[in-house]
Amino acid sequence: MIDWKEIEKKYYMRTFDKVRLPVVLVRGKGARVWDDRGKEYLDFVGGWAVNSLGHAHPVVAGAVAAQAKKLIHTSNQFYTIPQLQLAELLVKNSCFDRVFFANSGLEANEGAVKLARRYGKLKLNGAYEVITALGSFHGRSLAMTAATGQESFHTPYTPMPEGFINVKYNDIEAIQAATNEKTVAVMLELIEAETGVIVPNEDYIRQVRHWCNERGILLILDEIQTGIGRLGALFGYQLYGIEPDIITLAKGMAGGVPIGAILAKESCSVFVSGDHGGTFGGNPLVCATGYATMKYIIERNIAGNANTVGRYLMDRLNQLKSKYPVIIEVRGRGLLVAVEFTVEIGQEVMMKCMDMGLLVNRVKPNAIRLMPPLIINRQDVDRAVRILDRVLAGIAR
Ligand SMILES: *Cc1c(COP(=O)(O)O)cnc(C)c1O
Repeated sequence: MIDWKEIEKKYYMRTFDKVRLPVVLVRGKGARVWDDRGKEYLDFVGGWAVNSLGHAHPVVAGAVAAQAKKLIHTSNQFYTIPQLQLAELLVKNSCFDRVFFANSGLEANEGAVKLARRYGKLKLNGAYEVITALGSFHGRSLAMTAATGQESFHTPYTPMPEGFINVKYNDIEAIQAATNEKTVAVMLELIEAETGVIVPNEDYIRQVRHWCNERGILLILDEIQTGIGRLGALFGYQLYGIEPDIITLAKGMAGGVPIGAILAKESCSVFVSGDHGGTFGGNPLVCATGYATMKYIIERNIAGNANTVGRYLMDRLNQLKSKYPVIIEVRGRGLLVAVEFTVEIGQEVMMKCMDMGLLVNRVKPNAIRLMPPLIINRQDVDRAVRILDRVLAGIAR
């Protein structure tokens, strides 16, 4: 048997050393994946909240195959139908008027910030600063590293690009204090997923919307992880009774095929010809897959499933919490959930779950994150909780 881990060690840049588990996955079906030795796992990582319809879903696989045989790529010098179908679907199912497609989350965010800066030049006297939150994650380009409110991401790459101010999350006064005549936008996540599924007060998001209105600045929500049904609504903002000016999407949008999107209100869709672009963005292959995936999610109310199964998952995890004092908190919304421990056993829990056939994500030294496909059912949850129960019984202290 080929030792793929050795081949990785020899040829691949060493950037995933700490996150890669000693498992070579070769295939999947629904919420399950199999490794190169034939071992089965229940997948509660979902490709980092990407595989919204699970693995090898016939709708996703069918769309990839059909479009690949028809037309994969043309560049944006031509009109292509899947791009426009997906744009129309997104607009008709959201509060936004215009869409731009990118290839990833960070690219969507980068484009959203460029859009905000154009808006600042045209309408706000050249304002360009974007306020973001400490503990946020917005991607890994240089600008999005600066937007990301985590010092450890900045230090290896200083100097950071200008124009980003990182302030305390879940604190409206911090945003108010940082706002000045150079501020063009506030960019936030509805839940800080990468730093431990930090859920702010419901009021916070509404207060930020109110503040942005008052100051005439833009509210950008990074819904790359929270969008596309993950929180139990098609878009997370719908749960807060507000309308952002711009959102960015990516992860769950095309069932695993790389895509990103900027959705904006007409009032701030100020890009004109030549302002922004990209070779691959919005190509027929990814857009046909995104269209099929999103159409299925909308028509089958997959967000509703994420909501009800997500509640069930939280209930079951809270039962574990009453059994094991090592759990201090179960938090999240929909199918974006974290379990936090009193001690740093995140890694141990993750590894032991894996041995027992459950994949989870160690999101902090003392917490794991669960972000299964949105199509999971109660039986899948029961199985995952049973494994977690056995793992905690083995290490509870
Ligand atoms: C994953 C993620 C990103 C970055 O997306 P990439 O596709 O990895 O560039 C940005 N923001 C949030 C909230 C994310 O979860």
